[in-house]
Amino acid sequence: MKSTLLKNCQILVEGKLEKRHLFLEDHKIAHISEEIIAADKVVDIKGKIVIPGLIDSHVHFREPGLTQKEDLESGSRAAVKGGITTVMDMPNTIPAMITVERLEEKRKLAKGMLCNYGFHFGSSLGNIEEIKRVKNVPSVKIYMDNTTGDLRMTDMDAIGHVVEQAAFCTFHAERDNLEKAIEIVTDLKKKMYACHVSLASEVALIKKNKNRVFMEVCPHHLFLTEADNERLEMLQHVKPSLKKQSDQDALWSAIGSGLVDTICSDHAPHLREEKMEKVMFGYPGVETMLPLLLDAVNNGRLSLTKVVELTSTNAAKIFGLKTKGKIEDGYDADLTVISMELTRVVKAENLVSKSGWSPFEGKALKGWPIATYVGGTLVYDGEFHEHPGKEITIERPKERVKEAVVEEEVDEKVPEEESSDVQEDAEEQVEETEEEKAPEGEKNVGELNEQENSTGTQ
Ligand SMILES: [Zn+2]
Repeated sequence: MKSTLLKNCQILVEGKLEKRHLFLEDHKIAHISEEIIAADKVVDIKGKIVIPGLIDSHVHFREPGLTQKEDLESGSRAAVKGGITTVMDMPNTIPAMITVERLEEKRKLAKGMLCNYGFHFGSSLGNIEEIKRVKNVPSVKIYMDNTTGDLRMTDMDAIGHVVEQAAFCTFHAERDNLEKAIEIVTDLKKKMYACHVSLASEVALIKKNKNRVFMEVCPHHLFLTEADNERLEMLQHVKPSLKKQSDQDALWSAIGSGLVDTICSDHAPHLREEKMEKVMFGYPGVETMLPLLLDAVNNGRLSLTKVVELTSTNAAKIFGLKTKGKIEDGYDADLTVISMELTRVVKAENLVSKSGWSPFEGKALKGWPIATYVGGTLVYDGEFHEHPGKEITIERPKERVKEAVVEEEVDEKVPEEESSDVQEDAEEQVEETEEEKAPEGEKNVGELNEQENSTGTQ
C-alpha cells in the first residue's frame, strides 16, 4: 500500500491540541511527525482536528432479514458519514445470530462495508454449545428485557450459565433486571457491560458496583427527555424510553465523575412510515452521535478529550481491539477529521441511513465530522469513496477479574483509574456442571420472525 501523509493536523496530545503530521502506511499510523516527511501521497488537513475514528459498539444494521430498514452497507455509509470507523452489530436480526453457522453467513454479507465491523453473538435457551464454539465476537448479548422476541431470557440459572461460558457479556437489563444481572456476574466473578443506561437509579446501582460493570449511555438519553415525546409523536418509541430531566442530569454527572465508559448510538432504524403506523422501538443514531457530542463540547458540557475516551478509546479497551482507539504510532489509521466551527441543521434529506429520519431533526449543531479514514483509506469527505471495512480482531486478556473491593460510600467520586481500568474481563475455563438443554434455536427463530413483524424490535 502506498504511504500517505496527512499534513497539518491538530491532534490531542495529553489533552491539548497540537499540530502534527500523520504518516500512514500499511493501514497503520506509522509515524506521528512534527516535521513534514515525504510520502507517496500528501493530503493537507489544513489545521483541522483529527481524532481516533469512533468505535460504536452498539448498532443494529438489520441484515439479514430487515433490510428495508437498513443493511450492513447502508448502515456503514451512515456510520462513516458520522465519523464512526468501527461498528459492533447486535444479534437480533432475522434469523437471530445464535448459531456459529449463521454468523459465518453474516460475515459473508459484511464484505463491502465502508467501516470496520464486529458481530455480537446472541444468547437464547439452548445455544450454549454455540456460545462455547463461537470465535472473535465482542460479546454475547443477553436480553433480559422485553424487546426482542425469543432472545429474551428470564431464567436466572440459564443467564448464569451463559455468563459462565461466554468470554464477555453485554446486557439489555433495565431497572430490577440490572440488579439481577449484577448479582449474577458478581457471583461468577465476572464483569458485564450494561447497554443504554438511562435512569438515575441505574446510575446509582452501577456506582455501587462499578468494579463489575461497564456503563454505556446513548445520545438520545443525553439530549432528549420525555418532554420530547409530544413532539415526536409515534416516532418517540425507544427502549429504554426517554426519561425525566433528573435522569438525564444523573447521566451527565456520571460522565463528569468518570462512571460512564462508553457513549454508543444504539442505532436502531425503522422507516418513518413503519413507525407512524405502529409502535416500533428504536432511533437511528450513527449520523448524529458525534455532532451532538461536538456541539456539547462547544457548549462547554464536556471536553473533546472526554469525547474521544467515551466514543473510541474505552470501547477499544473493553472489547479487546488492541490497535484501535488512539492516535499513536502503530495504531490502525482509523481517523475522523472534524470541524468544530461548522454549524448544520439536522435534516432528513441529508441523512443516508435507509431509515431517513432522526429524532433530532431541526436541531442546529455546531461541530461536525468532515472526513473519515478507515485503515488509512479515505471513505468519506462529503462523498463516499472506498469500501475497506474489515472484521475486527478481538484479543482479550486472560487474567481473572480481581476480587471486588466494593465502595460502600456511594457519594464518592469514582477515581479516574477505576473508570479507565477496563482490561480485566475474565476468560475462564469453566467445568461443565449442568446438563445441556436441547437446542431450541431453530424453533425460536420462526417465532421471532412473527414477533418482529407484529411489534418491531430495537
Ligand atoms: Zn440496541
